[in-house]
Amino acid sequence: MARETWVGVDVGGTKVLAVRVSADGEVEAMATRPMPGRNADESAVEDAVELAARDVYDDQEPVALGISAAGLVDGAGERYLFGAHLPWRNAPVRDRIAERTGLVVVLDNDANCAAHAELVVGAGQGADSMLMITIGTGIGGALVLGGRVVRGAHGLAGEFGHMQVVPDGLACECGLSGCWEQYCSGRALERVTRVALGRHLDGPEVAAMAFAGDEVARQAFASIGTWLGVGVAGLVSAFDPQLVVVGGGVSAVGDLLLAPARAALADSLQGTAYRPVPPLVPARSGPEAGAVGAALLARDRR
Ligand SMILES: [Zn+2]
Repeated sequence: MARETWVGVDVGGTKVLAVRVSADGEVEAMATRPMPGRNADESAVEDAVELAARDVYDDQEPVALGISAAGLVDGAGERYLFGAHLPWRNAPVRDRIAERTGLVVVLDNDANCAAHAELVVGAGQGADSMLMITIGTGIGGALVLGGRVVRGAHGLAGEFGHMQVVPDGLACECGLSGCWEQYCSGRALERVTRVALGRHLDGPEVAAMAFAGDEVARQAFASIGTWLGVGVAGLVSAFDPQLVVVGGGVSAVGDLLLAPARAALADSLQGTAYRPVPPLVPARSGPEAGAVGAALLARDRR
């Protein structure tokens, strides 16, 4: 009998990451393609999605394909509406990719996908309430209450990265200013490092320096980690989740980011001597949580 597999593709601001998963959710293959950039043609992004997906095909086609995308996806899962880091605008992405691949396609926001992965095979298994934060080029967010991802009236809930945390703060690619992701994201890490060193380094370069003990690089992670904890504290005050799971590419550095975040979370909540502070843990599916979640959504679709 043919073995069934599913493919998930995560479309972020800097790369397109594809995974193939088995029926029990094991990741069997992974591939990345560069994201053509937010000023590219929409079709160039679709080329990258299709190529990355085909990179992880087995010797037979997957049963279905899930797409995880950073930004606003409509409640029906048909269109990508808007995102600061991708060129798609009100684009019928689900049908375009279905036409290219001949597969059933499921489309959802990246943090919603990551939350699904963590609920099904990750750190949030069995959780009734969970806050999911993904840190990549920007910040993605998802809120789980009653064991389900809260979607809001239009499917757009959880866009925590564009909550204003600094009035008249740094300009954001979304058109607003002072957004949380301007202070806590891969872009923020690069900016903080550039200001300190006077030259540009990308996120993986800053991470390598931090692991080698470089103090400027460690301080850059401490800065965005502190902002992570401050922002999470506001969300914990609002929703009181059982746990907070952090995924996305930047989360690969682990405690360089999460230790200052935990400290800032404890410092920024009221009454911590008299209330539980939820654990802040890394996504078990790692930085691939979005892609894995997209594949599992494709597997679990109704
Ligand atoms: Zn913004």
